Amino acid sequence: MIYRVRMDLSFKDEATARTLMNYAKSLSEEATSVNEGEDNEEIAFCDLEICRHDEGLPCTRLERVEVRKLEVRKL
Ligand SMILES: [Zn+2]
Repeated sequence: MIYRVRMDLSFKDEATARTLMNYAKSLSEEATSVNEGEDNEEIAFCDLEICRHDEGLPCTRLERVEVRKLEVRKL
């Protein structure tokens, strides 16, 4: 058993978004993924994106951190 936090929060200002992303990244060192490499894997991650869905345009990823094999991968 583990405890999972899921969230998807959008902000009008980049500074607040980056503050939350940086906090999540700092905690990702302690986070774990489940069943990595198997069909039912659940990889822990944090994404920072520019979202233009309010303009009918897609999101653009700025940064992604994945937790794999007890390592943090920055894509
Ligand atoms: Zn979006």
